[in-house]
This record gives sequence, C-alpha cells and structure tokens, in this order.
Amino acid sequence: MKRSLSPGVETVFWPLLTMAGYGLLASLSLHATRGADNIAAIWPPSGYFLALLLLMPARARPASFVAMAAASVAANMLSGTSAVISAAFTIANAAEAGAALWLIRRRVPGELSFMEPRAVANFCVAVLAAGALSASVAAALAGTLAAPGLTGRGVDFFFSWLTTVTLGMLIVAPPIVMLARLVDTRALANVPRATIVEAVALLTFAAALTALSFSQSHFPATFLPTVAVIAASYRLGPFGAAAGMLIVAIVASWMTGQGIGPVAAIEGSQRSRVLFLQFYFITLLFTALPLAALLVVQRRLAKRLEQSNRWLLQAEAAALVGHWRVDLVRWTIQWSDQAYRVHGLEPGEPVDVEYSVEQYLPEDRAAVRAILERAVRTGEPFEYQGRIVRADGAIRHVKSHGSIERGRGGRAVGIFGTVQDVTETVENARILEAARSAAERVANTDMLTGLPNRRHTLAFLETALTGAREQGVPLALAIFDIDHFKRINDDHGHAAGDEVIRRVARRAKASLREEDLVGRFGGEEFVCILQRSSAQAAEMVAERLRIAIEADGGADGGLPPATVSIGLAVYDGEGDAEALLQRADQALYIAKREGRNRLRMAA
Ligand code: GH3
Ligand code: MG
Ligand code: MG
Repeated sequence: MKRSLSPGVETVFWPLLTMAGYGLLASLSLHATRGADNIAAIWPPSGYFLALLLLMPARARPASFVAMAAASVAANMLSGTSAVISAAFTIANAAEAGAALWLIRRRVPGELSFMEPRAVANFCVAVLAAGALSASVAAALAGTLAAPGLTGRGVDFFFSWLTTVTLGMLIVAPPIVMLARLVDTRALANVPRATIVEAVALLTFAAALTALSFSQSHFPATFLPTVAVIAASYRLGPFGAAAGMLIVAIVASWMTGQGIGPVAAIEGSQRSRVLFLQFYFITLLFTALPLAALLVVQRRLAKRLEQSNRWLLQAEAAALVGHWRVDLVRWTIQWSDQAYRVHGLEPGEPVDVEYSVEQYLPEDRAAVRAILERAVRTGEPFEYQGRIVRADGAIRHVKSHGSIERGRGGRAVGIFGTVQDVTETVENARILEAARSAAERVANTDMLTGLPNRRHTLAFLETALTGAREQGVPLALAIFDIDHFKRINDDHGHAAGDEVIRRVARRAKASLREEDLVGRFGGEEFVCILQRSSAQAAEMVAERLRIAIEADGGADGGLPPATVSIGLAVYDGEGDAEALLQRADQALYIAKREGRNRLRMAA
C-alpha cells in the first residue's frame, strides 16, 4: 500500500487483520453452509487472504501466513472438524494463497489492476491454477489421512474444493483490493457525491434483488440479481462488478445455506445444490468482470479519441487548414470545423457535394470538377487551387490536397482532402510579381525615351537570332545615329538635344511593325531589330524610318530638325550578334561618310 504504516506497526497490523478477518469469514462460511458436506459453495476466506497478501508489504507476509494458519485451524476445529483434517485443509488453503500470489506477481507486471482486461484474465488464470493446486493438496492429504466425515472423496472432492476456493478468490479478492486502493490513494475523496450515492443505491439494489430472489422458491427468479450486477458493472466499472458480485454471493450463499430460496428447493443431493450455486456465481462473475474491464477500455479509448479529435481541430484552426471527405457511395460531404470557417460558414451547417463545388467561381468550377473526376478515375492524389465566394461575398483563394479512398475490390469509395485559405499567399505572390516585373521594366528601359535600353536590346537580339537560326527565317538589323547631333546640342542646348532624341525615338517606333524592336543603344544611337525581314524589306522599313524622321523636323514646338544615317545588315545564318552589329555599324559609318541622312546596307 502507498500510505505505508511504520514497519513496526505493519508486522503486527497485517497478521492481526489476517487472523481476525480469516477467522471470522471461515467461521461464518462454515456456519452458513453447515450440512453441505462440510464444503461451502464458496470459501470467502481464500479471497480475503489473497487480497490482503496483494495489499501488504512483502515483509508482513510470513507472519500473516502464520496468522492465517492459526485462524484456519481454529475455525475448522470449532466447526467440529478434527485437528488433523483442520491442519490438512489449512495447508491446502495456505498453498493456494502462496501459489496465487506467486502466479499473479509473475504474470501481471506492476500493481494488479482490474481495469485491464489482460490483467483480469491473468488474475483468473492464476486463481484457477492455485485452486487446482489447493484442491490437489487437500484431496491428497484428506485421502492419505482417510478423513472421517468426508463422503465425497476423490474426484468429487477435488472439484468441490477447486470450485469453492476458486470462487472465494475470484469473488472476494477483487472488491477488497479495489476498495483498499481507492481508500489508500485517497481517490475516494475525489469521487463525486452523486457517484457515491449511485454506488450505494446500485449495491443496495443488488442486495435487495438477491434477497427477493433467494427468499422464496415459488418463483425461481435467480436471473434477477444479474440485472443489478450488470447495472453496477456498467455504471461503476470493475469495482461495481466485483462489489455487486460479492453482495450477490454473500446473500445467495447465506440464504441457501439457511435452506431458503429456489436453490435450496432444488430436488436432489446437497452436492448438486452447491454445484448449481457455484455455476450460478461463476456465470455471473465471468459475465460482469470482463464486461466491466472491457467497458473501461472502451471508455478510455473513446476519451482518447475525443481528445485527439479535439487536438486535430485545434491544429487545423492554428494552421488554418480544414479537411473534408466525400462519401462516394452515399454522395455526401463532411467538412471539419475549419473547413466551414474557410468558407465563412458556421460549423455544422448542412452542406452537400454540389454546394461545395458551386462555392467556386464559375471560371474555376469546371477545372475543380475535372480534377476531382480524374482523381476518382485514376485513384491518384490530387491538388488544386481556385477562388471561392464566401458566405459574406468575399472572394478567397483556396488550395486543396487530397487522395482517393478505396474500398474492397479497389473501388473508390471516398475522396479525402484538405482545404486551406491561401489568399494572403496568392496576394503576396501577386504583389511580389508586380514589383519584380516593375523592377525588370526599369532595368530594361531607357529612362529618356522609354525605349528598350542597350541591355534589353542585346538580349532581344540574342533571342531573335536564335529564333531566326532555328526557324530558318531572315532577320535584319539597323543601326541609326542622329546626324551632327553635337551641333544640335551646341546650338539649342542639352535639353533641346534630349527632346530631339525623344522625338526621334517616337518616330522610329511609330514606323516599325509590332514584332520589330527599336532600342536606344547609347547617346543618340539606336538599334532596330527587324524580324522575318529580307534585305529588301529591311531597306524599305529603314528608308521609311529615315524619311519619317527627316519629315518630322521642326514640327514639334520649334525643335530643331534632325536627320539620321542608317547602317543595315542582314543575318546570313553565320556569326553571332556581335558580328551582325559590327557589320551594321560599318554600314552606318559608310552612310555617314557618304554624306549622312541615308542608309547603307552592309556587304
Ligand atoms: P555624326 O553626324 O558624325 O554622328 O556627328 P555627331 O555630332 O552626332 O557625332 P556623335 O554621334 O559622335 O555625337 C554624339 C554626341 O551626342 C556627343 C554627346 O554630347 C551627345 N549626347 C550623347 N548622349 C546625349 C544625351 O543623352 N543627350 C544629349 N542632349 N546629348 C547627348
Ligand atoms: Mg553618335
Ligand atoms: Mg551623331
């Protein structure tokens, strides 16, 4: 026991408790069943002693065995049994207590708990084995000593003894151990008043029903106490089962011993009446005790399940991830609380499969449906993202991951998926992308003209060249430079020069096709990339450009006129961008040298 007494007290306390209880119970049992071949239907002292042995510390056990022996011999002799036979019975009972204790301690690790079905089963096996040993010892000794007064010797005696002591241990030990533990751990103080009232009521009910059933033999209602024991097991667990059982055993044995009730009225030998009572107790015991232990397991499981479910919901709420499951057989859908929250609904509102799909914007709905249908068909995991319209009208981006559940035969029976509101992630990605593309635009654009800058123009040229090479289409390059620009700057000022550059850029861009590119290459020098343009086509475009710029001169708010010289080169499938640029530049140089405001084609 946990609240151990001081060792000095213990060496006296336990043997005294053993002696007093054992003596009393043995005398009572012998008295109550006097006449039943001197063998009681159950032998409670065995259960009492085993319970005490299980509860007491090891050091108190030897003295307790001595106390038990003294009490046993005394009780037997007082009931008229000879000293020799009393001693033989005592040895048998001591052997069974020792064997039961040893077996239980071997088979059940730690403290014996009647809440564990496995421990209950081990307890029953240990008690049965100990009972068999005890019966063998008793039968052997009684046989050897040719005990007078023992009519049912041999096999009969063996089974009588076996059932009697086994029942004593099975019925009496569990409630004592459980009650002692309740008291010892002060758990009793924590038991709600209502439970105590209920326990007392149920056990009283058991006693009353047993008394009612066993007080008369007109109506053999031996089944009635079963109701009370089952009720006690259901409401109070293993303690209810054990205590209810003990009460039924005490009342029924005592009344039957007194010759009253349906069992006492059974015609036939005293032996068969005892046997009936024993089977009655065994049946009741093996119904109630395992049932109660299993109930404890079930309740524990249910509690654990409820707790993990609560944790799951908490985790979902914390991670903002909900889950859902479509039952493909019944065509129903279940949402977790968080799934409801994602949809802006109160948990528990009725939803169906169609409703769930219709939450998506019409543009996304078909895609979601298609992905789910494909997953059901192929059985493969899926993932999709779409926009839903929440109950409050807000449009949210949600993402789902899921998998298909298969039933027997591999048929898809369900779809399980998670659902997560990813609106913030999507928004952040959008903002990031906008910032990135803005930065890219700035990095690629010439600030003065808004045209692609040198970097972008070169990159475009590389891509266009690769395309032309791969597709075998022509590509032309034009470089043009404003004529005598230094003069413009000098005569009209730098700002006017800038304005001229801007105007030339605008004109150039306006005279090109959509697929062509004109970029500012540096200073007042520009590059045109003319895709799919043969030499002739390129010359026409370039000439148009030149004329457009020339014609524009002075039109815009008094700006000085300007002309450009153009060098053209056509990609011939050989060389790289560098080489092409160089050829165009050479042609430009020639155009300048030959008088400016003209175009020249590279050789
Ligand atoms: P050419 O006909 O031979 O081209 O004679 P040019 O005077 O134009 O000679 P060049 O092309 O070498 O002149 C470039 C001048 O352009 C030099 C520089 O002062 C001027 N320049 C370069 N970038 C800018 C700019 O962004 N704005 C202004 N206003 N002037 C620039
Ligand atoms: Mg120049
Ligand atoms: Mg110039």
